Amino acid sequence: MKLHLDGNNIGSYHSNSQIARIVTERWVKENMYCPHCGNIHINQFENNRPVADFFCPHCNQQYELKSKNGALGNKITDGAYETMIKRITGNQNPDFFFLSYSKTEGIVQNLILIPKHFFVPDMIEKRKPLAQTARRAGWVGCNIVIEKVPEQGRISIIADGKIADIKTVIQKVNASSKLEVKDVSHRGWIMDVLNCINQLHSTDFSLKDLYFFEHELQRKHPENHNIRPKIRQQLQLLRDRGYIAFLGNGNYKKIW
Ligand SMILES: [Zn+2]
Repeated sequence: MKLHLDGNNIGSYHSNSQIARIVTERWVKENMYCPHCGNIHINQFENNRPVADFFCPHCNQQYELKSKNGALGNKITDGAYETMIKRITGNQNPDFFFLSYSKTEGIVQNLILIPKHFFVPDMIEKRKPLAQTARRAGWVGCNIVIEKVPEQGRISIIADGKIADIKTVIQKVNASSKLEVKDVSHRGWIMDVLNCINQLHSTDFSLKDLYFFEHELQRKHPENHNIRPKIRQQLQLLRDRGYIAFLGNGNYKKIW
């Protein structure tokens, strides 16, 4: 894998965003392996396919690429809000690559993979509708808020120019797939509780530690009036998926 972006022969594209797209897509096509199965390359779909940008010819996993110049930051601007919410709730989402590059240096700096089953509506932020004077007045775009994804779902492939070991990446992807929940309403809960556990510094924790987040979770799920039982249910799910161990008497251990 090389970090260099090849800006040669970009044809008749003129706008900066088009050029950036061509160059970063080319980089993925020439450098990226499939982080699910380790296939040496992934293929690009024909232009303008609405579902995804890339697919693995070996395991068929699909990927979408979002790129930005400069630091990756906490948010990535994406297309229409409603479309994104529909994709997530319809389970039609590909996995996402988030790539940041330095335009001045012509290199890729950061690349993370977020598997599709980590996407929940909570991480899609509505942008302000376009002004009445705009060509698409009233159109509402969205931001993908990366920091809302539990760390288990943000798999680093390149960090500040350092390339992660392919085996480690595949291992993390496999571990993260244990958290796959098809129903998006249930998915939100497991991600929320996992985010709470991630905030606890020690490996061992208790139910009491988690009940500390009760009010925060209640604010997020105002329709639910049984937050504590819901937390315990998610702990069971996380145990069944090999993420935590039950030590007895309301004590738990992180084991990922
Ligand atoms: Zn694959």
